[in-house]
Amino acid sequence: MDHALTHDADILIVGGGLSGTMLAAQLMRLPGKRKVLVIEPRAELGRGEAYSAVELGHTLNGNAARMSVDPDNADDLTQWLTDYIAGGGWPESDQQHVPISELFPPRGIFGLYAQQRLAEAQAVGALNGSTVEHVRAEVVDLQTGTENVRLTLSDGQCLQAAFAVLATGMFPAARTPQTQSSGLNAAALDPWDVAAMRQLDPQSTVMIIGSGLTMVDAVVSLDQAGHRGPIEVFSRHGLLPHVRRQPPAWVDFLAQDQSIRTPRQLMRELRRHCRDAIALGIDWQAPLDTVRAHIGRLWHQATDVQRRQFVRHVRPWWESHHHRSPPLSAELVERLYKEGRLRIHAASFKGLERSTGDSVSIRLRRRGEAHSCVVSGAALINSSGIEYDWRRVARPLPRQLLARGLVRPGPLALGIAAEVDGAVLNAEGQPASRLFAMGPPLRGMWWESTAVTDVASQAKALAGRLVR
Ligand SMILES: Cc1cc2nc3c(=O)[nH]c(=O)nc-3n(C[C@H](O)[C@H](O)[C@H](O)COP(=O)(O)OP(=O)(O)OC[C@H]3O[C@@H](n4cnc5c(N)ncnc54)[C@H](O)[C@@H]3O)c2cc1C
Repeated sequence: MDHALTHDADILIVGGGLSGTMLAAQLMRLPGKRKVLVIEPRAELGRGEAYSAVELGHTLNGNAARMSVDPDNADDLTQWLTDYIAGGGWPESDQQHVPISELFPPRGIFGLYAQQRLAEAQAVGALNGSTVEHVRAEVVDLQTGTENVRLTLSDGQCLQAAFAVLATGMFPAARTPQTQSSGLNAAALDPWDVAAMRQLDPQSTVMIIGSGLTMVDAVVSLDQAGHRGPIEVFSRHGLLPHVRRQPPAWVDFLAQDQSIRTPRQLMRELRRHCRDAIALGIDWQAPLDTVRAHIGRLWHQATDVQRRQFVRHVRPWWESHHHRSPPLSAELVERLYKEGRLRIHAASFKGLERSTGDSVSIRLRRRGEAHSCVVSGAALINSSGIEYDWRRVARPLPRQLLARGLVRPGPLALGIAAEVDGAVLNAEGQPASRLFAMGPPLRGMWWESTAVTDVASQAKALAGRLVR
């Protein structure tokens, strides 16, 4: 790839979490010489929020056989992990007595794997003179011209290249106006901060908002920190994630019947297959897992009305059945639930009431009740998820991109709009020739655009597109 002398690089990748890192790795493996800069404020590439985890109990939500970053080799993580364990890494894995492919690796160890795969790709790229460098800063502004893309960094530096890719990942939820103005995140403990949880009275009541996988991680953190008091979990639907099992293969009914298109048809067929599976003594997770490969196509071809139906009626169910909990964490949650120490309530968060040194109070409305109520505890954890609507994200880059009309909200305001190849659409709906996006920002385009396997396959396709 030729680049003008004025360019600092051929490709600028904004964000060095798993997406940006895997894109850089794919770019290094393709023929030709290119210079790639990854702009990421964190100290290390390949980690982002998910894989910066330091607790061994914060694991992937899928086993090694499901979490390869190599779209052409599903065994890639299992192979890496086999060598890692043989070399003395993760000695605790011994206690699980399952094949390595069935282990659920700690996310921090997965981060090492991603980093090693990048290092190997860099060695391959070096043979062609290609390089990847980490620039440690936040991108605060971006402009596109006919010849280049220009970034402004938090330290005032400017960078230019032929192409830029937004791999900015997920932004934490600040879903309601009350949440922002009441300072929920300031009053809440970080779900992964075990050291902060050690400061709590072990018998005190802890409140958690949200009941998805971040809540599961928070319960693991509390347990690690020695907390033994009540845990009150509040979420709109009061649904806990199911545990991930290893179901056998099931007929890929969506591949066989392309007439299934609407959420209603999908749910009807899926329920039928789950009933058939159960009648045969097979886990209901087997038919459910066949849907994953088709969800992007179904979402992409759906109308906005159908997408809204899915979000309204299917999403809570999809989240708890599809985004399943790793077995060891699920066992802990189940044990605490059975002991009566963890209780789950269907209630919506309405705002923070009061926060003093030793107690926090929140206002909630329980499902089915007309009036709100106030509950208190010694600490609060916000695990209410991700903000996908960029118009509500209070970071400089999303704001600038929207203000400049370089991006526009994606379907249902989930992330940003883009072409199938990742070229972002501007405010008028025109595809950019130099600005691309991948991973969670494309949530509205594909619905599932976040998991390891999603970003790994997008990285491969986008690298090919950029080099072409
Ligand atoms: C706690 C947690 C656990 C998860 N567990 C799993 C799991 O078990 N299995 C699974 O498949 N998926 C899991 N996920 C999904 C996970 O998000 C993806 O696997 C993957 O991390 C997405 O990578 P990403 O690089 O797109 O986003 P992120 O990991 O969010 O990384 C984005 C990076 O961009 C940087 N950035 C943002 N804005 C800018 C800017 N303006 N300038 C410069 N840099 C910027 C951020 O600092 C960040 O490091 C988990 C997610 C979380 C949050």
